[in-house]
Amino acid sequence: MNLENNLIFAKAQDDADELKDFRKQFLFPKHIDKEFIYLCGNSLGLQPKVAKEVLNSQLDNWANYAVEGWFDGNEPWMFYHKELKKLMAPIVGASPDEVCPMNTLTVNLHLLMVSFYQPKGKRFKIIMEGGAFPSDQYAIESQVRFHGFDPRDAIVEVFPREGEDVLRTEDISAKIQENGDEIALVLFGGINYYTGQWYDMEMITKVGHSVGAIVGWDLAHAAGNVPVKLHDWDVDFACWCSYKYQNSGPGGISGIFVHEKHFGNSKLNRFAGWWGYQENKRFKMQKGFVPEAGADGWQISCTQVMPMALHHASLQIFEKAGFITPLRIKSIALTEYLEFIINQVNKELDIDQYKIITPQNSKDRGAQLSIIAKQKGKQIFDGLIESHILGDWREPNVIRLSPVPLYNSFEDVYLTGQALLKVSKQILKSN
Ligand SMILES: *Cc1c(COP(=O)(O)O)cnc(C)c1O
Repeated sequence: MNLENNLIFAKAQDDADELKDFRKQFLFPKHIDKEFIYLCGNSLGLQPKVAKEVLNSQLDNWANYAVEGWFDGNEPWMFYHKELKKLMAPIVGASPDEVCPMNTLTVNLHLLMVSFYQPKGKRFKIIMEGGAFPSDQYAIESQVRFHGFDPRDAIVEVFPREGEDVLRTEDISAKIQENGDEIALVLFGGINYYTGQWYDMEMITKVGHSVGAIVGWDLAHAAGNVPVKLHDWDVDFACWCSYKYQNSGPGGISGIFVHEKHFGNSKLNRFAGWWGYQENKRFKMQKGFVPEAGADGWQISCTQVMPMALHHASLQIFEKAGFITPLRIKSIALTEYLEFIINQVNKELDIDQYKIITPQNSKDRGAQLSIIAKQKGKQIFDGLIESHILGDWREPNVIRLSPVPLYNSFEDVYLTGQALLKVSKQILKSN
């Protein structure tokens, strides 16, 4: 399609968008009574309007039933997480048995590494993307040390080539093959938080398995954003947060995936707790841990009802939208439009002020574009905020903008381009 940098075109796209009304289900932040154009769903998704209601309803359950709430009421807390599992499964391409909501993301990354990073003999290395999200770097370093290794020996990072911004799949494959039988674990972020690059998850999983390694993914920026097929791709384990593209609130509940092929393996280490105990015998309070079957066996503490209620409500919005496929179609179009608009801004400024480092091909990215601002980036970013455009800033010079198909429009993207052009002209001129 021929894209056009004007309001009539943008509005026509919105009119034709079958998902356009979902935006009405969200609350947009305001400044001096004017709503922001929100392009920061990669960092914290917007609050669904039903959020208050579902929290209040759980507060009522607590008030009315108190401890009986675990087994009484229309949604007994004891089984509440099962409703979420059904809705989480299609988001990540898994069966409900293979997923479970629990804890928070970095905690789950640790717990899953306890099970799936089991160094033995010369097979002790972890291979990961260079420039991974800091929490993942720290978690992996500390796990490696926990097993008595020096991170400098045990962690292999893959970096982009000189002069390039993102990784080539062939370089990742080569690095895995080069380290071959020394690799215990391949652990990447599905989409890199900084560059927005979506790695070839299926291929990397295959190559990891071909050298005998376990392969896990941190899907913080992928879950709810791009279609993934964890089960079919034979991924060993994964985890993600629910507060980015899944709109389930700050510090919200995380999700884990464990492939069913591991369910029968009683040799996996785990850090156990009572909630992972076989469900029908949990309250016999017996000595000796027997895990519940499936991903539920990784639970430790009792159900976190409040964050799960928020996640449940949010997942129901995904369900109404048809889960990932329709959202992804819109997402590809929105992000392509944003890319076009940014390039138009460059043209009108008549300098190469903005360089998009996120890959150009939609199969290599999700909603987010990471844009290097060559001059005065922070000032321009602040100028965007004053113009009621909220993206996010990453040092030293990257503006991340993520049009989210559930609540962003083509008009949002068009207006962002207009604001960026205006702010850039003002700030670049005032030398
Ligand atoms: C957002 C994000 C996190 C955050 O972890 P929390 O434990 O939820 O604070 C971790 N890893 C990645 C890759 C992320 O994008």
